[in-house]
Amino acid sequence: MNCPQCEHQIESADAICQHCGFDLSSAAWVVLTKVYPPDDLIIESLLNSYGIPHKILRREVPQMPVTVGPLAEVIVIVPEQILAQAKALLQELEDQSNS
Ligand SMILES: [Zn+2]
Repeated sequence: MNCPQCEHQIESADAICQHCGFDLSSAAWVVLTKVYPPDDLIIESLLNSYGIPHKILRREVPQMPVTVGPLAEVIVIVPEQILAQAKALLQELEDQSNS
């Protein structure tokens, strides 16, 4: 994935950019979208292919291995700096699936 500040490649969503020193772990993470499986995998691969740093929050309940309904909700968060960019990508994805 890429640094939201300088686009330099970084290793993980918890890394500090070697190029500009931007610290992703201290960035403001905001909710990009809430989805249900398997849409989370589609969004994850989309964000990966564009190098967009993101975190996937899965609300899994250990006592219930089969997650259905609201329990299976997946929250995708991104650094605030690239929220607009990520939203634009999701919009494109939506436009494609609607056409
Ligand atoms: Zn950077």
